[in-house]
Amino acid sequence: MKRQFAVIGLGRFGYSVAETLVKKGCEVLAIDHDETKIQAISDLATFAVQCDATDERALKSVSAQNVDVAVVSIGENIEASILIVQTLKEMGIKSIIAKAVTTTHGRILTNLGVDEVIYPERDAAVRLAHRLVSPKVLEYLELAPGYSIEEVTVPEKLAGLRLSEARIREQYRLNVLGIKKRVTRMVKGRMVKDEVFNFTPSPDDVVERGDVLVVIGKEEDLDQFCNFE
Ligand code: ATP
Repeated sequence: MKRQFAVIGLGRFGYSVAETLVKKGCEVLAIDHDETKIQAISDLATFAVQCDATDERALKSVSAQNVDVAVVSIGENIEASILIVQTLKEMGIKSIIAKAVTTTHGRILTNLGVDEVIYPERDAAVRLAHRLVSPKVLEYLELAPGYSIEEVTVPEKLAGLRLSEARIREQYRLNVLGIKKRVTRMVKGRMVKDEVFNFTPSPDDVVERGDVLVVIGKEEDLDQFCNFE
């Protein structure tokens, strides 16, 4: 059976969550009290309902209590976000994920029993700052405090070496999860640039100039690796 989600609040974030869930084959109940937001998503969502999501009766009339996960994506109106989460909790929804715009907002949501609070703007800002500080870092994802996965351009000195010769694990205490290579290939008679991702790297795989390594480890070790010329 398809997993069922409710996405409440169809700003840019909520809309993108709903859109991606639908593309992944999930059923999405999209809710917003703004008619134009509902019109904009009506062709995409499984059900698109215009209602005030603080109103438990309105939510029950569209069987919102049956979804597997509810995503509350309301930032501007913190009061509405809190009231909606409270209503969903009272309805016994299994899992609630809510967006927060400030730490106080997030703390209140956690105290209400939200399973996961996300801070999209703060997280995007942190990722950007990591890239700005170290231009070799192309992508950054914090896994736990002090540990992350980063996409790093291959340091010049390692270009041309096998992974076993690069000794990244021994010298930097980092694990290489994958190697991304840019390739040019012929498609319908035209040369097109593409990217190949080797996600099962072996000790004999060679890293070349311009490749990108996906590495996991402690942030201080990642910083050291990124500063290695
Ligand atoms: P963005 O993701 O674009 O940054 P945002 O976090 O600023 O959005 P808001 O403008 O706060 O989002 O609101 C998100 C959506 O939630 C809006 O479309 C708004 O109409 C809707 N919304 C706000 N309160 C309610 C409510 N009580 N019931 C249903 N929808 C609501």
